[in-house]
Amino acid sequence: SKSVLTITMNPSVDISYPLEHLNINTVNRVKDVSKTAGGKGLNVTRVLKQLNVPVTASGIIGGTIGQYITNQLDENDIDHAFMKINQESRNCIAILHDNGDQTEILEAGPVLNSDDENDFLDHFGAQVSGFDLVTISGSLPQGLSAGIYSKMIGVAARHNVPVILDSSNVALRLALESDIKPFMIKPNQDEIAQLIGQKITDLDDLKDKLATEEIFKGIPWVVVSLGSQGAFVKYQQSFFKVNIPKIHAINPVGSGDSTVAGLAAGLVKDEKPEDVMKRAMTVGILNTLQEKTGNIDISQYKDYFEKVDIVKY
Ligand code: ATP
Repeated sequence: SKSVLTITMNPSVDISYPLEHLNINTVNRVKDVSKTAGGKGLNVTRVLKQLNVPVTASGIIGGTIGQYITNQLDENDIDHAFMKINQESRNCIAILHDNGDQTEILEAGPVLNSDDENDFLDHFGAQVSGFDLVTISGSLPQGLSAGIYSKMIGVAARHNVPVILDSSNVALRLALESDIKPFMIKPNQDEIAQLIGQKITDLDDLKDKLATEEIFKGIPWVVVSLGSQGAFVKYQQSFFKVNIPKIHAINPVGSGDSTVAGLAAGLVKDEKPEDVMKRAMTVGILNTLQEKTGNIDISQYKDYFEKVDIVKY
């Protein structure tokens, strides 16, 4: 069956430190530490695996932290084919304290250069033809040019492999402005507003902007995720509002990544567009119902899938 290559350019080990109270300028001792392979692309990877879609994780990784990440993927029986570098991948620390506060300390990660960029483009070029779809998620490590995603989309296109791009800022803009477009993007409302430099007032306005703004021309799928409000989708020249049931979200972090996994799964299973949308929303919802980021309970799939409703807009 068809397989997906996921790209995480700056993966991390995400460390969570639960503390009753965070004491400043003194020692805090923590017992229940959890350390998981993180980065948006790795969330996509885990969820694709849970959806039973053949998937391989790629990107750039290094050092003992990189080794920790690949060990975790091995434990989860997830294939990986990262380019290795001689620098350490990063740790990202979230301190959960004082009844719901979350203080984060995020390392920037390795600093790369144009040789690394060319090496990675070669690495990607050598692997991409073995897959039916690529997902690219998240931001770039320091030192790589913001145009690298655009270049990767070009490389994939030469092998006829479509790309789902879930990024923001300049990297997203450059990819959309390039002659060779991503097959699909999954911005949220903030990212859309940032792209066009204008506020979005309502769905009519969103539809109007997606239909007329130059930057969205030539992109077959634009899936604008709207959190608890579902999604608004431009598919070729048609528009859809995807309505989702009201639920009690436990932890919405990683829902966007889970949505990307659902979209990718629908595409490689050659589902019809409406089913791709429904699957994506269902997977996003299932992620919000779990404590763990980028994780779903597939046994609840059918219940929620049936409650997702698509309206032509
Ligand atoms: P993140 O950056 O946290 O991954 P995002 O902004 O990219 O999120 P969202 O639009 O928040 O993505 O969420 C993606 C999808 O997940 C939504 O379209 C929806 O299907 C589901 N979802 C997210 N939050 C909720 C919620 N509170 N209730 C129900 N579904 C939700």
